[in-house]
Amino acid sequence: MQDGSLFKNLKFKLKINFPLIIIGAQWGDEGKGKVVDLLAKQATHVVRYNGGNNAGHTVVFNSEKFPLSLLPSGVLHQKKLLLAQGVVIDPAVLIKEIEFFKKRGVVVDLVIDPRVNIVMPYHKALDAATEAWKGKKATGSLHLGIGYCYEDKNNRSGVRFEDLVDPKVLKEKLKTLVPLKKRQIEGVFGQKTELSTEEIYRDYAEYGKKLKKYLGDVSAIVQKALSCHDKVLFEGAHGTFLDGIFGTYPYTTAVYTIAGGVFPYVGLPPQKIYSLGIVKAYTTRVGNGPFPTELFDDIGWRIRAAGGEFGTVSKRPRRCGWLDLCMLRTAIRLSGFDYLAITKLDVLSGLQKLKICTHYVIATASDAESNKTPLKEIPSLMNDFSRCRPVYKEFKGWSADISRVRRFADLPKEAQIYLKFIEKELKVPIKIVSVGAERNANVLL
Ligand code: GDP
Repeated sequence: MQDGSLFKNLKFKLKINFPLIIIGAQWGDEGKGKVVDLLAKQATHVVRYNGGNNAGHTVVFNSEKFPLSLLPSGVLHQKKLLLAQGVVIDPAVLIKEIEFFKKRGVVVDLVIDPRVNIVMPYHKALDAATEAWKGKKATGSLHLGIGYCYEDKNNRSGVRFEDLVDPKVLKEKLKTLVPLKKRQIEGVFGQKTELSTEEIYRDYAEYGKKLKKYLGDVSAIVQKALSCHDKVLFEGAHGTFLDGIFGTYPYTTAVYTIAGGVFPYVGLPPQKIYSLGIVKAYTTRVGNGPFPTELFDDIGWRIRAAGGEFGTVSKRPRRCGWLDLCMLRTAIRLSGFDYLAITKLDVLSGLQKLKICTHYVIATASDAESNKTPLKEIPSLMNDFSRCRPVYKEFKGWSADISRVRRFADLPKEAQIYLKFIEKELKVPIKIVSVGAERNANVLL
C-alpha cells in the first residue's frame, strides 16, 4: 500500500501535544479505536501497553470495518507499532490480525517486548472451568483466559514472549506448567480437560517461530524515541472504570487502565505525558454493577439501537444511560486529562430531551431521609456508589443528522450548548467531536 492511499482524505490540523496517552474515560467502548487512528497520523510511534484481546477496537474506513484486538490502532497509518510488557498476547489471534492487514498491503512494522506474557490454552480452560463451576453465578466471560494470564504473570509462573520464541525454554516450562494446570482444573473445579503438553508445545513453538522477528526491547525503544522528541502515542485499552484498583471493583479488568499505568507497563521513568480522555456523549456499561444514570425505558433502547451498543463478540446488549459528569470528574482526577474527545454525538440526534448527571446524592434507607449533600465524584467506597442517585440537568435535543457536519458553528445550537456545558463543567478543552463511525466524521476544535 502506498503511503497515504488509505487516509488521503483525512485532512486535519489538530493542535495537540506529544507524547500523548489516550484513555477511555468511562466503562470502555468509548470509540478509542477511531480516535487513536485519527491521532496516529500525527505520531511516529503507537504503543499498546495494557490488556489483551478482550479489548477490541473497530476502525472504519470507506465502509470497511477493520477489527483490532492486539495490534495498536496506528496500524493503518503504517507507523512504528509497539506492544509493551503490560500487554498479554494470544499469539494465534495476533498472527491472524497481522495476516489480515498484510493481505491488504499494509506494512506491519511491529516490535513486541520480551517481557510480554502469553495467553496459553490452560488459561482459557481455567476460565471455562471457573465459569462452569460458578453455574448460575457465572460472569459470562468469553473464556479468553486474559485474567488467568495476568494471574500467572503476577505469580511469576507466566510464559513470556522471550520463552515463546525459544523452543527449549518453552518445552521445559510447559513440562511443569501444563500438568499443574490440569490438576487444578480437574482437582479444584472437577472439570475434564484435554490439555496435552505435546500439542501445546507443537502449536506454540510454531507461533514463536512466526513471531520471533518482532522481538525487541520496547522499553528501550520508547525511551530513545522520547529522548529524540519523536511523537509517541500511547493507546490505553479498556476504560477508566475498568481499572483493576480505581475502577468500579470487582466489575473490572486485571490491569491499571488509568494514565499512570503507562510508566511501569512500558518501563519508563515518571515524566510529563499529555493525556486525552475519550468520552462517549452518553454512558454504556457491559456486565453487572452499579450504573446510576442507566436508562430502562424506550430512550435507552433508542440509544442502544442508534449507537450499535451490542457486544462485539458476545452481541449482548450494552446497558445505556445518560452522560455522567461525576464519572468524568473522577476520571480527570485519576488520569489528568489535558484534552477531551467526545464521541458518538450523532447517536443522540432525534431525542427531544437530553439529560446530563451533574452530581449524585446518596440514598439512605428511606428516600425522604436522602442525604442531600451533593457528591461531585464517584465515592471511593463501592458500597456508597451502589446507593448513588443521579441529579440531572435537562437539555433540549436536536433533530438534524449531524454526521456530515465538520465545523462547530454548523452543529445545531442545541448540540453546541450540550458540548459547551460539558467543557465548562469539566474545565478541560474538547479537541475532537466525533459525529459518525467514518474516519473523517469529526468536528475538530
Ligand atoms: P473502543 O473499544 O473504545 O475503541 O470502542 P469500539 O471501537 O469497540 O466501539 C466503538 C464503535 O462505535 C465502533 O463500531 C466505531 O466504529 C463506532 N464509532 C466510533 N465513533 C463513532 C461516532 O462518533 N459515531 C458513531 N455512530 N459510531 C462511532
